[in-house]
Amino acid sequence: MEVIVIGCGAAGLAALRTLHLSGIHAIGLEASDRIGGRINTVDFGEKAVDIGAAWCHGEKDNKVFELANPHGLLGKPDPDTNWYLLSNGEQVPEENALSILKALDTEIEKADKYSKLSISECIRNAAKTNEALTKDAKLSESFIEWFERNNHLGGQDDPKKGKSLRGLVEHKPCEGEPLMHWKGRGYKSILDVLLNRYPDPSKELPLDIHLNKEVEHINWGSTEPPFRFNSNPVQIRCTDGTMYSADSCIVTVSVGVLKERHEKLFFPPLPAEKVNAIENLQMCVLDKIYIEFEKPWWPNTPGKFTILWRDEDKALFTGEEAWVSEIFGLWTVDCQPNILLAWVYGKGAEAMENQSVENVKAGVEKLFSKVLKNFEVSPIKNIIRSQWSSNPLTRGSYSYRSVVLEENGGSAAILSEPLDRGDRFPTICFAGEATSHERHNAVHGAVESGIREAERLIKNYDLYN
Ligand SMILES: Cc1cc2nc3c(=O)[nH]c(=O)nc-3n(C[C@H](O)[C@H](O)[C@H](O)COP(=O)(O)OP(=O)(O)OC[C@H]3O[C@@H](n4cnc5c(N)ncnc54)[C@H](O)[C@@H]3O)c2cc1C
Repeated sequence: MEVIVIGCGAAGLAALRTLHLSGIHAIGLEASDRIGGRINTVDFGEKAVDIGAAWCHGEKDNKVFELANPHGLLGKPDPDTNWYLLSNGEQVPEENALSILKALDTEIEKADKYSKLSISECIRNAAKTNEALTKDAKLSESFIEWFERNNHLGGQDDPKKGKSLRGLVEHKPCEGEPLMHWKGRGYKSILDVLLNRYPDPSKELPLDIHLNKEVEHINWGSTEPPFRFNSNPVQIRCTDGTMYSADSCIVTVSVGVLKERHEKLFFPPLPAEKVNAIENLQMCVLDKIYIEFEKPWWPNTPGKFTILWRDEDKALFTGEEAWVSEIFGLWTVDCQPNILLAWVYGKGAEAMENQSVENVKAGVEKLFSKVLKNFEVSPIKNIIRSQWSSNPLTRGSYSYRSVVLEENGGSAAILSEPLDRGDRFPTICFAGEATSHERHNAVHGAVESGIREAERLIKNYDLYN
C-alpha cells in the first residue's frame, strides 16, 4: 500500500513514523521548506526559543512525554514569582489577585457545561453577582479581560464563537507537570525523536519527506480527467505541477488552512457534515514576542508579569499602536536568562503581525514605560515575534470548540472521520491537533492523531489483505 501524508508537522511526522515502522511506504508532502509546522525552534539569545509550541503539557497518557522523557530531554520548572500590574504600573496585592482568580475558577467549575454558553459569557454573568468579583468591579473587569486572553477564550466579536463550556468536558488535560521545558534545546527535540535521529543521528528513519510541496488539489473520487493519471484512488497535484498518487492519504493541515482552502483542495467536495465541522471549529490567534536584554533587570527568575488593562490606559495606545493593549503577560523564559516573552492575543495579535519589527519594538518600549515604570528596565537588545495568523500554512495558532460548533452539531469526531469511495476502505483520513477528540490544541494531541490515523490504515490494510 502507498500512503501520502499531507503536512509534516507533529501529526504528519507521527503518522509517517508509524506507517514506516509497520512496513508501509508513505510519502510526506510538506508545503514549507522545513518540517515541524507549528513547532518552530529558532536561534535567539544565548540558545533557542520556540516561536510556536514550547512546553510539554503533562506526563500521564502524553505521547510527547512518553517519547521524550526516556531520553532525559524534559525539565521541570522552578516555582515562579508573580507580579500583578495594572496598566498604569501600580501593583495589585497578591491576595486581591488570588481572590478574583479563585472566584473565576470556581464559577467555571460549578457552571452547567451543557448550558450552551461560552466560558466568557459564564464569567461575565458571574461578575454581576459573585461577591469576590463585585467588590471591586473595575479591577475584576481587568482580570476578566486578562483571563479571556490568557485562556484564549475567543468570541470577542460574536459570543457564540467563544470557547464553549462544553469544550471543557471534551478536553482531558494530562496529569503531571503542565509546563515541562526542553532544557534550552526547544520543542524541535520531539521532531528529532520522532525521526529517530536523537540521540544517535546515524539511526535516523529513512522517511520519504518532500519539502516545498504545497498540495493544491486532492482528487479522491473522480475517475474523470484532468487530474487522474493512473488507477490509484488518490491523485494529488502540488502548486509546482508535481503529481503524486496513492491508495490513501492522511490530511494533517490545520483547521485554519482547511477553512480557507477546502473548497478548492478536495474533489469531489467534502460532505456537508465535514464542511460544517471545519467551518464551526474555531482557530485562535496567539502570538509571541521574545525580547532580549543585555542582562536580566527583573527581581526574580522564573517570573511572570500579569498585565491588567484599564480603559484609560488603553486610550494611550490608539491607531497603529492599539495592538499593544492586547499584550496580556510577560514571562521569563526557561534556560534563557536575558529574555522575556510577551504574549499577545486575538485581534491585537493579528494587528501586531502586520507591523514591522521596528514598530513592534517601539510598541513594546512604550508599554514598558507605562506598565513597568516602577522597575529599572534596561534597553531592549533584540526582538523576534511570531506571525501565526498571516502564515498561509497555519492561519492561526490552535483550534478550540465553540458554542456555534455545538449548536450546529459539529465536532472534532466528525472532522476525524475518514472518507471512503463506497468500499469502506479509508481513502482520505484526517489528523492534526483539531481532530483530537480529547487533547486538541496541543502537540501531544497532534502526535496522538497522527498515530491514530496511521493505525487505522494499518488495520484496514491487514483486513483487506
Ligand atoms: C504560539 C503557539 C504556542 C503553542 N504552544 C504550545 C505548547 O506550549 N505546547 C503544546 O503542546 N502545543 C502548543 N501549541 C500548539 C501546537 O503547536 C500544535 O497543536 C501542533 O504543533 C499542531 O501540529 P499539527 O501537526 O496538527 O499541525 P501543524 O503543525 O500546523 O502541521 C501541519 C503542516 O501542514 C503543512 N501544510 C499546510 N498546508 C499545506 C499544503 N497545502 N500542502 C502541504 N503541506 C501543507 C504546514 O506547513 C505544516 O507543516 C502552540 C501553538 C502556537 C501557534
